[in-house]
Amino acid sequence: MVSNTDIIGTYNGKIDLVRNLTISPFSRAYTFSDSIYEVIPFYNRNFFYFDKHFTRLSNSLNALAIEINLQKVKDELYELLKHVTYQNGYIYYQISRGTDPIRNHIQVDGLEAETFGYILEHDYKTQELNIKIVDDLRWGRCDIKSTSLLANVMGMNEAKKENCQEIIMHRDGIITEGGASNIFFVIDGIIFTPALGNNILPGITREILIELVRSNGIEIREDKFLIDDLLKSQSIWLTSSTKCIAPVRKIVNLDLNLDLNEPVMNRCIAILDKEFKSNSINL
Ligand code: PLP
Repeated sequence: MVSNTDIIGTYNGKIDLVRNLTISPFSRAYTFSDSIYEVIPFYNRNFFYFDKHFTRLSNSLNALAIEINLQKVKDELYELLKHVTYQNGYIYYQISRGTDPIRNHIQVDGLEAETFGYILEHDYKTQELNIKIVDDLRWGRCDIKSTSLLANVMGMNEAKKENCQEIIMHRDGIITEGGASNIFFVIDGIIFTPALGNNILPGITREILIELVRSNGIEIREDKFLIDDLLKSQSIWLTSSTKCIAPVRKIVNLDLNLDLNEPVMNRCIAILDKEFKSNSINL
């Protein structure tokens, strides 16, 4: 387990060790999950597609009507990176509507947005996953990167009991996404992934991979898919900023064996890896 003793963080613009930060229990992030977040990876000390993450952060803020000086946020993200010496890692950054005088569902006017972030070292290694399929119990705006992740937490901990590291969620048999990732699968050489909508987070890794796959002439289709479609798959993988592409080894509650050597998946892993290592923003 990572100890927080030496983690560098930031609270309301002040950078310090996380253990020195003091946060009010009246933070609306704490009482209501009235907050959004972003996870921005860096490799060789370069952020990977910083602008895409920043645009999604801004979209999440707009969806919740939280106002903040975005230039200050951007400066702080770059500043955090200067406070560590390791090469590879990510920044977690969350913004809440602010600290309430008392916990009140109807927001008080004039609150100042509250920011909290930290930076962590991360080893970007391909990890193979055991998966459980679970009901998607989430709300109707999963496209907002809200810190309200209780259904994801419940699903992933239910799956952990069966030695799984991730889940694939579905609503009435229609696949949505992973607990902290998007899903792709291959049937007869064609890649499939659920289309974006209110039920799915528009993953940055998903977006980058789709662009790369298309520019490499590989066929990919975005649509509505069923659990039954997974049964026809030769390979399945999940994507996220910290997992990159994580191949699915098995799905514990489907009788399905997946080929970890399946060529389309392995080509995708190689294409994304090359992009990750070569095309990050230079500071
Ligand atoms: N879907 C969910 C529910 C997530 O929590 C995440 C990342 O944490 C993703 C998808 C993948 O998004 P990204 O590729 O931007 O990390």
